[in-house]
Amino acid sequence: MVSVDVSDAAVTVRARTRSGVPAGCPGCGEPSAWVHIRYIRRLADATLAGRPLHIHLSVRCLYCENPACSKVTFAEQVTGLTVRCQRRTPELQTWLRLLVWCWPGGAVPRCCAS
Ligand SMILES: [Zn+2]
Repeated sequence: MVSVDVSDAAVTVRARTRSGVPAGCPGCGEPSAWVHIRYIRRLADATLAGRPLHIHLSVRCLYCENPACSKVTFAEQVTGLTVRCQRRTPELQTWLRLLVWCWPGGAVPRCCAS
């Protein structure tokens, strides 16, 4: 973890994945630690102490080292925290699905539907 900022409006956690640890290519499964770039993923998580929890996670985009693989680069995922192309953590996504399922009349706010 890099830092935690707490305000009346939100809690923001800034963190980064560890360098040098191989991640599996989603195309072929081969591990790779050959970094192309790093970038910040902004994730929304379930609340913490009644405040929205924002996670700014520095992740790696890696090269696949398998020449037979169709993936040239891929983004590493953090189990339980990130899902490809999702801006919500799996926990928050689960809560929102429950909310949609329980919402009376089926008129779910657009922010919660996905
Ligand atoms: Zn691959």
